Amino acid sequence: MKEVLPLFIMIDACGWEIVRNDPFAQNFAPTRKKLESVFGYSSTCVPSILSGRWPDEHRNWCYFVFDPKNSPFRSLKPFGWLPKFITSRRIFRRYLTKFVKVQLKFRGYFDLYNIPFKFIHLFDFTEKKSPLKPKGMNRGPNIFDFLEERGVPYFVTEPLNPEEDNRDRLIRDIEAERIDFAFQYWAGLDGLLHMVGNDSPEIPKKLRMYEEWIEQVLAAARDHYKEVRLYIFSDHGMANCDEHLDLKAKIDALNLRMGVDYAVVYDSTMARFWFFDEDAKRRIIEVLAKEPQGRVMPDEELKGFRAYFDDHYFGELIWLAKEGVLIVPSHMGERPIRAMHGYHPHDPHTYATLFTNQDSVPDDVTHIPHICRLMERDAELAKQANGR
Ligand SMILES: [Zn+2]
Repeated sequence: MKEVLPLFIMIDACGWEIVRNDPFAQNFAPTRKKLESVFGYSSTCVPSILSGRWPDEHRNWCYFVFDPKNSPFRSLKPFGWLPKFITSRRIFRRYLTKFVKVQLKFRGYFDLYNIPFKFIHLFDFTEKKSPLKPKGMNRGPNIFDFLEERGVPYFVTEPLNPEEDNRDRLIRDIEAERIDFAFQYWAGLDGLLHMVGNDSPEIPKKLRMYEEWIEQVLAAARDHYKEVRLYIFSDHGMANCDEHLDLKAKIDALNLRMGVDYAVVYDSTMARFWFFDEDAKRRIIEVLAKEPQGRVMPDEELKGFRAYFDDHYFGELIWLAKEGVLIVPSHMGERPIRAMHGYHPHDPHTYATLFTNQDSVPDDVTHIPHICRLMERDAELAKQANGR
């Protein structure tokens, strides 16, 4: 029997609005808190949680950036000659994504998404390492560096394996008393929400299933640890997308040259622009100003969210869609999906959650990067208590 197990379980996209009227986790983690998320997608929310720092510090923000000099994708340019009905097919993209990931030795999550092969040599992919591993951040340490430095044995999810496998491996580690800390990351709810939306009856069903799994993990933990410090949390929420916007068609109509006059990445809720010509810049800004389904994010506002980059590495101008508006087609997908995240941090469906079996959550834990403080505090505590 060991003394203390800090158990951190992240349920991707389990936002405040998703569980506000649902008794989720009430039986074993009754203390609830609404947390503000970070501006961006999971590609920035998860690294922010794992490092306790902000996008302008760790520089894990959006996946694709205009950077032809450093582009690892030059070898894919010939695919630009293939007809779009082949290159936009999901199965073709999936096969090629695997091939590219191995070729380029990317360690983290990687997807070619819907970036056109004609232009892919202009872009770099910014998550070459896995934030779920030590030394996995673009800049600075994460919780796994912290644990390794202190010699704390830990469990961490293997994101390529099914959720059930990760659940079972965690239970085995607990039963063997091999670990003094656990970070479990379940992504299934996020995928389901994207498909069916946040008001589908499928969602409470999935929540009940997670409750059962957590009960199983807890039962094992109580047999092997005197105290289990449980935290369940999310990185962001999920908004239904009832409006679609073909922003690309409006920009393409200007007949400007991609890579010469300007460059753009269409994420599903953001368009990020780089300009190489003053006239092109003026005309693009004119088009964006006429677009009521979103707005240009002012630098000051980005700075407030700690997502402003002095070197404009992720784009000189960030246009953000209103909550519920999906850019489609985008470089993230050719076809619409039911729901999306990555809207303004103050939009209702962006807020994240924290549930715990502790009596209270410290007052200064208000934003998702602050979860890292709880992880560091409890890892220290377990290390002392378990006598390592
Ligand atoms: Zn998602």
